[in-house]
Amino acid sequence: FFDEGLKMEELALNEIECPVCYENMTSPIILCIRGHNICGSCSNKLYNTCPICKGAFNSRNLALEEVATKIDTLRKNILQNQQSVSPFDILDRYKTKNTIAQEVGRIIANELKCKLCNKYSYQPIYFCTNGHSTCQKCEICTKCCEKKTDGRNYALERISKQLEYPCPYKEFGCSFILTMEQTAHETVCEFKPLRCPIRDYETTHCSWYGPCEEFKNHLAHSHVSCQLYEVPNFVLHLKYNSNAVIFALGNIFVISILIKTSSVFYKMNVVGSKRNVIKYRCVHVVVLDGDVVTTVVMSPSPDWCEFVGGIFLDLINYEVALVVSIAEA
Ligand SMILES: [Zn+2]
Ligand SMILES: [Zn+2]
Ligand SMILES: [Zn+2]
Ligand SMILES: [Zn+2]
Ligand SMILES: [Zn+2]
Ligand SMILES: [Zn+2]
Repeated sequence: FFDEGLKMEELALNEIECPVCYENMTSPIILCIRGHNICGSCSNKLYNTCPICKGAFNSRNLALEEVATKIDTLRKNILQNQQSVSPFDILDRYKTKNTIAQEVGRIIANELKCKLCNKYSYQPIYFCTNGHSTCQKCEICTKCCEKKTDGRNYALERISKQLEYPCPYKEFGCSFILTMEQTAHETVCEFKPLRCPIRDYETTHCSWYGPCEEFKNHLAHSHVSCQLYEVPNFVLHLKYNSNAVIFALGNIFVISILIKTSSVFYKMNVVGSKRNVIKYRCVHVVVLDGDVVTTVVMSPSPDWCEFVGGIFLDLINYEVALVVSIAEA
């Protein structure tokens, strides 16, 4: 009847339970040299001796403290909200339990995600010298800038093995359940909201984001001067700093044009689903007064997400056009 994710929640709660007083640990959590965790007040009574292995206490487990504190806040919040609904409704309780399991998963996944490279480290999880979790690749703690040590956070490793958590874009309609082995889904999730790529050169970057389907609406309201194309082949006249958005071949492309004294820079991005990027091939032909100046072919490649081109041209005396054609490779 209950969700698989519940096992994970039990496991997490088990790991944050003090082995001496059986209370849920929050902060501080003291770590022995072999990786056992004991609550702060029990550790004070134990004269620097781990009750499990008799080893000495080494440092605080700041990573587990963070997870434990967030889980504690979550439970308090849910308990508070629960008072407003009927406590006898079994369905409500089922929903609440599922929410806790999923949220716990999200809390732990967040703890294991490197803020520098966005990769997940879950097996093994190393400490920094202060007791935070560190990334395996970056070697440096993103919380305190201290170095990675050889010490491992076994408690977090045990939890993360069972970790299942919903795709972060669940609220946008994704029902994918991730495990630590499948975190790559996040980058290709088709429900990932679109961040508005339009930059008006004098002002700051637009802060809008939302589902792909609402992007066209946003353009019409907030970027009136932006040129819209719904075909993959067209001619763009380069006169001013401008943006062109192309809705074609099931994706969204943006061309940004920046004009400086005697040169034109243009940039093309795929802003829709990046999963399909390698399917496209694009040809840009720069035409000066009707003559072809240069032809740029972008062949299928994962780097295609952003392409920057530039040409030096006398814009005062010539008409410059960019002939764009995007096709499926
Ligand atoms: Zn205790
Ligand atoms: Zn120990
Ligand atoms: Zn990293
Ligand atoms: Zn640190
Ligand atoms: Zn997803
Ligand atoms: Zn915008």
